[in-house]
Amino acid sequence: MNTNQLKQEIIEYSKEIGIDKIGFTTADIFSELKERLIRQQELNYQSGFEKGSNEERTEPRRLLPEAQSIISIAVAYPSRMRKDAPKSTKEERRGFFCRASWGMDYHEALRERLRKLEVFIHEKVEGAVTKIMVDTGELSDKAVAERAGVGFVGKNTILITEEYGSFVYLGELITNIPFVPDTRVEDGCGDCRKCIDACPTDAIVQGGQLNAQRCIGFLTQTKDFLADEFRVKLGNRVYGCDTCQLVCPYNLKKDFHLHPELEPEDDVAKPKLKPMLTMSNREFRETFGHVAGAWRGKKPLQRNAIIGLGHYKDKTAVDELINIMNSDPRPVIRGTAAWSLGKIGTEEAFSAIQEAMLKEKDTDVLFEMDKGLAFQEVQLIKE
Ligand code: SF4
Ligand code: SF4
Repeated sequence: MNTNQLKQEIIEYSKEIGIDKIGFTTADIFSELKERLIRQQELNYQSGFEKGSNEERTEPRRLLPEAQSIISIAVAYPSRMRKDAPKSTKEERRGFFCRASWGMDYHEALRERLRKLEVFIHEKVEGAVTKIMVDTGELSDKAVAERAGVGFVGKNTILITEEYGSFVYLGELITNIPFVPDTRVEDGCGDCRKCIDACPTDAIVQGGQLNAQRCIGFLTQTKDFLADEFRVKLGNRVYGCDTCQLVCPYNLKKDFHLHPELEPEDDVAKPKLKPMLTMSNREFRETFGHVAGAWRGKKPLQRNAIIGLGHYKDKTAVDELINIMNSDPRPVIRGTAAWSLGKIGTEEAFSAIQEAMLKEKDTDVLFEMDKGLAFQEVQLIKE
C-alpha cells in the first residue's frame, strides 16, 4: 500500500463529502495536553463534562491499540444569520443560541462525514482498523487538529484555522495506517489579548487556560441555580457564548454558508423567550431536539430563558413568570422565576413573590424569593 497516494486520495475524497479542511498526525501521546489537564484539575478549572481519564484523553493507543495515525477533519459553520432574521422586540424578547448550536447537531453532521471516510478507507485498505470521534469522545479534537496542522489553539482555547477562523467543527478518525504527518501550525496570537479582555466573566486565565467553572458557555449547560454573579452576565444567551470568538481578529469577515444542514433556523437559533417557559417535553423535542444545544434537556434552557426575561426587564412576561413560580414542580425554575420577577420589579411582581413565600416550602426557592424581594429595596433606595 502506498500511503502517500492514499493520503492524497483521502484529501480529494474529503472535499466531495463536505469536509472543509483535513490534516494528518501521528498517534503519539499528547504530552503537553496531559500536563495541561493535570494543571486544570489541580486548579478545579474543569467543566465536569470531560470524558475518560487523562491517559485515555492523551494516549490514542489506549483507545485503539493498533493506532498509527489520526486524521483530523474540520467543517465550517456560519457566523451570521440572514440580514432579515427576526429581531428581539419589546413585545417579544428573543434569546440566543451560540453558533455551534445552529442547524443540525454537529455531532451527527460530522459523524456522517467520518463514517463515509471510514468506508472509503476500508474499501482501499484490507485490514484497516479505524475509530471515529466527535467532541464527546475521549480525545481532544482541538489538540488533534492542532498537531495535524488544521489550525492553532488561540488564547481563547479554541482552534483557529486560517481559512474559516474558529467557526469550524472538529472530529477525528484514528487508524492503524501509518500516514506521513502534516506540520503543526504555529501559534498566531502574539501579543493580542482581545478575547481575554472581552470575556464577560474573566474565564480565560493565563492566556490559554479556560476556567470552565466561570465560562458562560459551560454555565448555560448546568442544571442547578446559576450563581448571581453569572446571572447578570448571561444576558439573553440561552445556550453557549460566542464573545471570545466574535472579538478574535482571525474571525473578521469569516462567515461561511457551505452546508445547508448547518444553517440556523430563525425561531430555534433566536427563540422567543416567553413560549420557552411552559413548553411540554414533546414541544421541546420537536422544536429543539435536533440541535446540539438540546443535549442537556429542557431545564437549563428554560432557566436561562427566565434569566433572559429578567435581563430585559420584560413586563409582558410577569404573568407567565408568576404562573411558573407558583406551579412549576422544579425548584430551580420556581426560584429563578422569583429572582427574575424581582429583577423586572413591577408592583404586581413583588406582591406575587410575597404571596408565594407563604406557601413555598423549599428553602432554596425561599432564598431566591428573598433575593427577588431585595430588588424592591434597591428600587426604594434609588427613589
Ligand atoms: S465562551 Fe464566553 S464566557 Fe467562555 S471564555 Fe469565551 S467569552 Fe468567556
Ligand atoms: S482574540 Fe487575539 S488572543 Fe484571542 S484567540 Fe484571537 S488572536 Fe488569539
